[in-house]
Amino acid sequence: MTRSLTVARVRDVDVRLHPTFALVFLWVLIDWRRIGVGGSSGAVFFTLLVVLLIFACVLVHEFGHVFMARQHGVRVHDISLSAVGGVARMEQLPVEPRAEIAIALAGPAANLALVTALAPVVLLVGIISGFSSLEEYAQTVFKPSLTGLLTTLVYANLLLIATNLLPAFPMDGGRVFRAGLTALCGRETATRVAALLGEVLAALFLIFSIVVAQSVILALLALFVMVIAFAEDRAVRVESSLRRMRVGQFALWDMGGISPSQPLTYALRGGPRDLAVTEGGRVVGMLWRNRLLAELGMATPGRTVADVMDTDAISVDADTPVFEVQRIMSEHDCWSVPVTESGVYRGMFTGDRFIHIYRQLAPDPLQTLRDLLRRSPLGAQRL
Ligand SMILES: [Zn+2]
Repeated sequence: MTRSLTVARVRDVDVRLHPTFALVFLWVLIDWRRIGVGGSSGAVFFTLLVVLLIFACVLVHEFGHVFMARQHGVRVHDISLSAVGGVARMEQLPVEPRAEIAIALAGPAANLALVTALAPVVLLVGIISGFSSLEEYAQTVFKPSLTGLLTTLVYANLLLIATNLLPAFPMDGGRVFRAGLTALCGRETATRVAALLGEVLAALFLIFSIVVAQSVILALLALFVMVIAFAEDRAVRVESSLRRMRVGQFALWDMGGISPSQPLTYALRGGPRDLAVTEGGRVVGMLWRNRLLAELGMATPGRTVADVMDTDAISVDADTPVFEVQRIMSEHDCWSVPVTESGVYRGMFTGDRFIHIYRQLAPDPLQTLRDLLRRSPLGAQRL
């Protein structure tokens, strides 16, 4: 987990700064003197101001996604600003392709709105300054003046729109591209193509920053983009594996559960844990570990399981994909969920099972070797 600093909270969404955010300022302070508008402190100050305003535009872009996501009932956790832009982390929902496209396009659309709002002001300021051609406007980009500032922002927003529409992960265009391609070759292949394109583009950016721009800081940024592209690729592979795996494979089998009429103290047999409350094999509620311990602390005599069980608890069928169960658990904010087969209680799936699942998805190379050496030819292979 990377540590990010929460700097603001806007409409219930935390805005966080990723440590690489500092790279941008390093880039301005180190590289800008070399390649930019000159070495005066005024110029550096102007550039820092421009950079901050560009990040404000990135934030507007992310809130475009947030707005559209909420329109489609998708919960947004936070927005993280890093050296290469922003990311709005949202809850993964099985959204239909149309909604996915709408959420992806809402970011660039927010930048388009900014361009539309800024353009008349830029035009007016230019006319007052006596500009007669587009070239004169273009020449003011990154020049320390009011027209320079405004034109730079229009330019930056156009650039944000163009780069984000590239049909590659982790860009918004990658998601639109995948949603379109899914109809032709399925979601998994479409995802791999978009992720591969992202990795190729990131590699080209790395070559550009070393060979053409000859900047260490820019090369670091390019490496960071590559890391994101690879991580995105991995994330979608994990996602498709989680969609294939069934929760029944990972449940801890437990024939029975506890009956509502049993005394609370009986629930402590086998140690304090979340227990399914069953009646005739059917799940009728959950006895949460925390609630149980709190009740026993109060030591009220004669209490039964029925008195403290949670009757709103959900259960999942053994055939439910792990991906879906993960979503349900995060939505209900619960650590354990009873697993049933044809409505009959079979066992419990708990959050710590994810450790086993992720270990299977990304095995530790040494452990894999040990397992291979240990596995007998006749031994049953666990999935
Ligand atoms: Zn975006």
